[in-house]
Amino acid sequence: MSSVFIISAPSGSGKSTLVRRLMESDLNLIFSTSVTTRLARPGEIDGHSYDFVTRAQFMHMRDNGELLESAEVFGNYYGTSRAVLERARQAGRDLILDIDVQGAAQLKEKLPEAVTIFILPPSKTELEARLRNRSSDPDEVIERRLSEARKEVANFGFYDYVLVNDQLDASFDKLRSVLIAERCRQKGVASAIEPILESFKAGTNNG
Ligand code: ADP
Ligand code: 5GP
Repeated sequence: MSSVFIISAPSGSGKSTLVRRLMESDLNLIFSTSVTTRLARPGEIDGHSYDFVTRAQFMHMRDNGELLESAEVFGNYYGTSRAVLERARQAGRDLILDIDVQGAAQLKEKLPEAVTIFILPPSKTELEARLRNRSSDPDEVIERRLSEARKEVANFGFYDYVLVNDQLDASFDKLRSVLIAERCRQKGVASAIEPILESFKAGTNNG
């Protein structure tokens, strides 16, 4: 059974950095590439970071029922394609989503078994420093992201896990630990342990 991991955080907390590291180290994970109407940042690759689409294309997908969830964030539209979840399930792999708090709430209603993880920056000052150091957004966009962050952090209580991204290596270890622990849940391992239980049944002697 594949697991679904939803990660949310105020912009600049380090969520993409952590997810990127996870993707490099965990071959069982599929990253849910979102659809967005936002313009690509330098270095972002269409179809990899996001599927960059026009507003008309986005509305068409949404109205056609092709999106599992969608939200307007910082004046742009973002959404999760239904096909991505299907592909992960068919491949028997786990799916990881980097989506905002509105999308996480919509998805958790549709997939109550999804595991939700909220990442917090160590402080607002550090969040601002990270947004400015990233140098990928103009000043007014950074201001907007900071003001949204105040509202977003209030949602931490909705999530199964909360992780403060202070030291990157320690945060990464914690995130990996959440995934490892969740994959040991009884429901998820039922089919894998069947042959083991079978070997313990009376009358069999296969070791
Ligand atoms: P998000 O995806 O949450 O918007 P990013 O992953 O783009 O954030 O990180 C924002 C900036 O902060 C990047 O420049 C990244 O290198 C840096 N960063 C991420 N995690 C840490 C950390 N634990 N300590 C210091 N800087 C970090
Ligand atoms: P950014 O523009 O910095 O890449 O992302 C802005 C915000 O949009 C982040 O909080 C990110 O998690 C969120 N986001 C990215 N993809 C999706 C998506 O498919 N759905 C929703 N609801 N939010 C998304």
